[in-house]
Amino acid sequence: MRQTPTVQSPLTLNEIYAALAECAGDLKIIAGGTDLMVLANAHQLEASNFLDIWRVDELRGISDEGDALRIGALTTYTQLIRAPLIQQFIPALVAASRTIGAVQIQNRGTLGGNIVNASPAGDSLPVLAAYDAALEIGSQRGTRRVAFNEFYTGYRRTVLAADELVIAARVPKVKAGERDFFCKVGTRRAQAISKIVMSAKAQMNAASIASIQIGIGSVAPTVMRATQTEALLVGATLTPDLIEQARQMIANEVTPITDLRSTEHYRRSVTGNVLTKFLRQIIEGAEAR
Ligand SMILES: Cc1cc2nc3c(=O)[nH]c(=O)nc-3n(C[C@H](O)[C@H](O)[C@H](O)COP(=O)(O)OP(=O)(O)OC[C@H]3O[C@@H](n4cnc5c(N)ncnc54)[C@H](O)[C@@H]3O)c2cc1C
Repeated sequence: MRQTPTVQSPLTLNEIYAALAECAGDLKIIAGGTDLMVLANAHQLEASNFLDIWRVDELRGISDEGDALRIGALTTYTQLIRAPLIQQFIPALVAASRTIGAVQIQNRGTLGGNIVNASPAGDSLPVLAAYDAALEIGSQRGTRRVAFNEFYTGYRRTVLAADELVIAARVPKVKAGERDFFCKVGTRRAQAISKIVMSAKAQMNAASIASIQIGIGSVAPTVMRATQTEALLVGATLTPDLIEQARQMIANEVTPITDLRSTEHYRRSVTGNVLTKFLRQIIEGAEAR
């Protein structure tokens, strides 16, 4: 017989910690519910005891911490899109948020939910990867900070323990002169899960690339950094030849699958084309100055 669902609605972070410590492993966190309700509707949600964290204001808000912004886990896409701090210092996150669902999902879906849901197609994740974000994770045992790029341990698996939750993401600000980039390729411009999604950041030193970070989604079991392609590009002069080499390298570096949304071949080619788009924008930007 199916158990009657229970829902706890704490008002403080300490109440969340206490509830998770007491029922470790048997309590499912609900934030905006936009991923969980899809599962419930498809009868794929195993849990029957829920911890609704929506009323805990300590998990909201965007604050300036000098070289980085701290974004509370319950911050919604609408809040990210509207926040002057995000617009100024993490423009790729605004671009990503605008592509997520429609307004209803943007009003309710949270950054923390996108992170912990751990879909390789989560649209905010390549931005957090490219920006070298860190996550604040909390429990009654204390808080710890984990590099975003070390948070996922495999397909839909994370380092979170059963009594922990994500409290906030700490995202370094884009630096003066640094270019950032976001591009999502789906079947249509709105309400589409990506076939590939990329975010990148680069700093030029005259004609050569001083630094570059490339985060990609939907091309591997988890969001990934294209570290081999980054190594090819760093320190090199940005020429059409180099762009072609990078296009080929990144197409081989990703490990996509063929699924309902796309084929492996298409994903490899388009990953190369999207990187080419970013690198050409850098050249055109330099020529325009
Ligand atoms: C119509 C529709 C369109 C969508 N379009 C997109 C899209 O274009 N791009 C995209 O990336 N996603 C999309 N989504 C998915 C979803 O909206 C996002 O992943 C959203 O960010 C999830 O946030 P949430 O707060 O609703 O998560 P929830 O559904 O509440 O939770 C998701 C998971 O994360 C866990 N969780 C949530 N917050 C925390 C926390 N702070 N600490 C620990 N665990 C936590 C929950 O236990 C659950 O396992 C779409 C969903 C729908 C229904």
